[in-house]
Amino acid sequence: MFKKENTPRKKIIISKMIIENVNVLVETLANIKGKKTINFIPTMGNLHEGHLSLIKKSQKKGFVSLVSIYVNPLQFSEKNDFKNYPRTLKKDLELLKKHNVDLIFLPKKNFGDTPFSVDIGKLGNKLCGIDRPLHFSGVALIIFKFLNLIQPNFLTLGEKDFQQILVIKKIIKDFFFKTKLIIVPTCREKNGLAFSSRNRLISDKKKHLTKKIFETLNTIAFDAENFGLKENKINYHKGKLLRLGFEKVNYIEVLKEESLAELDNTPSRCRIFISITIDRVRLIDNIVVRKKLVKQKGVIKTAGKSVNS
Ligand code: AMP
Repeated sequence: MFKKENTPRKKIIISKMIIENVNVLVETLANIKGKKTINFIPTMGNLHEGHLSLIKKSQKKGFVSLVSIYVNPLQFSEKNDFKNYPRTLKKDLELLKKHNVDLIFLPKKNFGDTPFSVDIGKLGNKLCGIDRPLHFSGVALIIFKFLNLIQPNFLTLGEKDFQQILVIKKIIKDFFFKTKLIIVPTCREKNGLAFSSRNRLISDKKKHLTKKIFETLNTIAFDAENFGLKENKINYHKGKLLRLGFEKVNYIEVLKEESLAELDNTPSRCRIFISITIDRVRLIDNIVVRKKLVKQKGVIKTAGKSVNS
């Protein structure tokens, strides 16, 4: 006679956990792997709506969400920027608890310590890499450590940090990680300003200006998609932002999306990237251009096809 199977199959219960020790993290993940899909969401804390949109996406897909909070010293070019980066751990943990995040990883201060370094080549010399030369190698090194340690099924990132996405995509490809990327659209405040932990450092006096960042991106995209954009029009926008009261326009660039290469006469998917400084706070943003673009004789114009065609 067969024995009647009356014991229910074991339910996998993941207790809400805060983990600081890498060995505990590895053990915990070993108990989950193969049974559940692990989605890793790295953050530097001071959590806001943008971070929550990543978490919500993960939860909607039914993944085990592992959120890390680690202000990575390696990606800061200036000591003061690192020192002044907003840290609100207690509030962050309450928020993660409120949103039922499964696992929270709080690496120790020395998590990034290693004599090794990563040179990420051309990608690191564009946009934010121009005046922050070590930024992306700092990002790359930490992400490399995270991926090796956690080996998540998915890694969720925000579109706001587009150059960072390209760097991480390259790490995954070149080092044969099996992790797949999930990219979440930029989450914005009512006036179009992309949520960022740095936004709280902007004074009330200057805050009203921030709507101009998204506005400028849209104006440039609209011109490029509809009329053609002379390269010197970008300088016009830079000048206008400075006259309005921004301290510095670090860059406004229209570049090929996949490589961040300059436009040429090959129709390419493109993005418009901006970085400005206001109240000594450096902000970045970007939007996609809805039609493929070419550059001919100093004019950026559509190649006639939409990016989906
Ligand atoms: P951070 O804490 O700034 O390092 O960001 C952690 C993750 O959240 C990164 O993948 C960011 O791209 C993402 N993120 C930050 N701000 C936003 C936003 N406004 N909308 C969507 N994702 C964001």
